[in-house]
Amino acid sequence: MTDLWNEALQGLQPRLGQETYELWLRPLTVAAVEGRTIRLRAPSLFMKEWFENHYMEAVLDELEARTDSRYVLDLEVDPTARQPTEPGRAEPAAAEPHPGSQTNPQLGGHREATTSAPQVASVATHPTVEIPRQVAPPPVGLSERYRFDTFISGASNELAASAARAAAEQPGTRFNPLLIYGGVGLGKTHLLHAVGHSLYESDPSRRITYLSAERFMNEFISAVRHNLFDQFRRKYREDCDVLLIDDIQFIAGRDRTMDEFFHVFNALYEAGKQIMVTSDRTPSDMEGMEERITSRLNWGLVADIKSPDLETRVAILRQKAEAERIAIAGDVTVYLAQQVQSNVRELEGALVRVATFADLKGVPITTGFIREVIGETTKERRSAPITVEAVQKAVASHFSVRIADLKGPRRHKGISRPRMIAMFLSRELTGSSFPEIGLRFGGKDHSTVINACKRITKLSAEDPELRSAVDHLREQLSR
Ligand code: ADP
Ligand code: MG
Repeated sequence: MTDLWNEALQGLQPRLGQETYELWLRPLTVAAVEGRTIRLRAPSLFMKEWFENHYMEAVLDELEARTDSRYVLDLEVDPTARQPTEPGRAEPAAAEPHPGSQTNPQLGGHREATTSAPQVASVATHPTVEIPRQVAPPPVGLSERYRFDTFISGASNELAASAARAAAEQPGTRFNPLLIYGGVGLGKTHLLHAVGHSLYESDPSRRITYLSAERFMNEFISAVRHNLFDQFRRKYREDCDVLLIDDIQFIAGRDRTMDEFFHVFNALYEAGKQIMVTSDRTPSDMEGMEERITSRLNWGLVADIKSPDLETRVAILRQKAEAERIAIAGDVTVYLAQQVQSNVRELEGALVRVATFADLKGVPITTGFIREVIGETTKERRSAPITVEAVQKAVASHFSVRIADLKGPRRHKGISRPRMIAMFLSRELTGSSFPEIGLRFGGKDHSTVINACKRITKLSAEDPELRSAVDHLREQLSR
C-alpha cells in the first residue's frame, strides 16, 4: 500500500512541482490502511489542513486513476510531532570576534566564525543555575491593531497568513525560520506583530523581541561603540525566545551587522527558538546579503504576499470602516476598492482621507465624492513607493526652503508651514507612522507630527491657496 501511495505522489510531482511535493506531500506518512481508507499522519495541524484544502483532491484523483477505486484519506496530526522547544540555553556561538577589540578590527571580515578557535572566557560568564521565569515583560513595539483577528485573509496572502498562524501555534518547529516577503503596504508587518501578540498571549513567559532590521543595526553599532556588546549579545542570543525582525533586507551590504545577525540566528535556531523576518524581496534578490544568511532564511518557509484582489480589498475596507465608525454604503465601498488597487496601506489611506473630508464638509460619502477627493491620481499610481525623503524634497523645492530647515527647529512661518505640509503629505502618501515621520524630520516628537496633520487638514478647508499647493504637491509626488 505504501508503494501505491509513493507511486501516486511521485506521479503527481511533475504536475504540482518539486517544491510543493517536498513541502506538503512528502512529510505525510501512511499510518494504516483499512479497506479503502488510508490513514495518514501530518507533522502539524497546519500541514494537515493545508493538505486537505489544497492537495487532497488531486491525490485522490491520482489514486483513482491508478486503481480504479475511490479512496478516502483520513489525516491525523502526528502525536510524536516535535513540540515547541522549551527555552533552553543557547550554545555560545564560538569565537565571536569581540567588537572593538584591537585583535579583530574587521568584524565583518570574519566569515566562518563558527568553526574558529575555542573560546574559554565566554563560557565562564554564563550562569549555570537556571532561574525560573514566570512572566516575561510584554513585547515592546507591537501595535495593538495588528492582530490575527484584524487580518483579512484572501488568495493574495493565504499562504503567508496560514504559515504565520502555524508559527504562532508551534513556534520553533516546522516553519522556522519564517520569511514573509512582498511589496510595500501589503500586511507583512501586520503579520509579524500578530505572531508576537499571539505567542505572548499563549505563553506570557516567552521573551519576545520585535524590532526593525534598521534598529537592530543601530543597537548593534551603539553596543559596540559603548562597550556594551555583552549586553547586546545576551539580549538577542540568550534572553530571547522569539525573534521578530522587520525588513531584514535593510542589513544587506552592511557587513558587520550581517555577521552579527548570522550569529544571533545560529544561536536562536540551535536552541529551537522561533525566528520570523519580513522583507520586500526574496532572499535570492537581496543584493549584498551574504550567502550564508540567504541560505538560512530559506531553511524554513518563504511565503509571499501579493496585492489583494477586489474581494479582499472590500473586506478590508469594511473592517476598517467599522473600526473607525465610518459610515459608507456597500456599493460605495466596492467603488473605492476598485479605485485603489496597489496596496492595503493606500487603500486605508484613501478611506481615511475620504472620511476626513466628508466629515469636514458635512456630506455623506458617495461615489461622486470619492471621485472628487481622490481624483484620478490613485489609479495611475506608479508602483514605486513614495518616501518621506521624496516628499521633503518636493516640498522644499516648491517653497524654496532648504531640506535642512524642514528638519530643523526654526518656527518662522515661512519654514513651519512647509514643514507641516511635508509632514502631512508624508503621512498621507507614505503611510509611515507618526513617530517614524517625526524621526525623519530631525527627531521630532510624534505629537508634533499629529498636530501638523491636524493643522493642515483644517487649513486646507479654509485657505484655498494652501489647499492648491497641497493638491499640486500631492499630484506631483503621485505621478
Ligand atoms: P507592509 O509591512 O507589508 O508594508 P503593513 O503590515 O504595514 O504592510 O500594512 C499596511 C496597512 O495595511 C496596515 O495598517 C495593516 O493593518 C493593513 N493591512 C495589510 N494587509 C491587511 C489585511 N490582509 N487585513 C487587514 N489589514 C491589512
Ligand atoms: Mg512593514
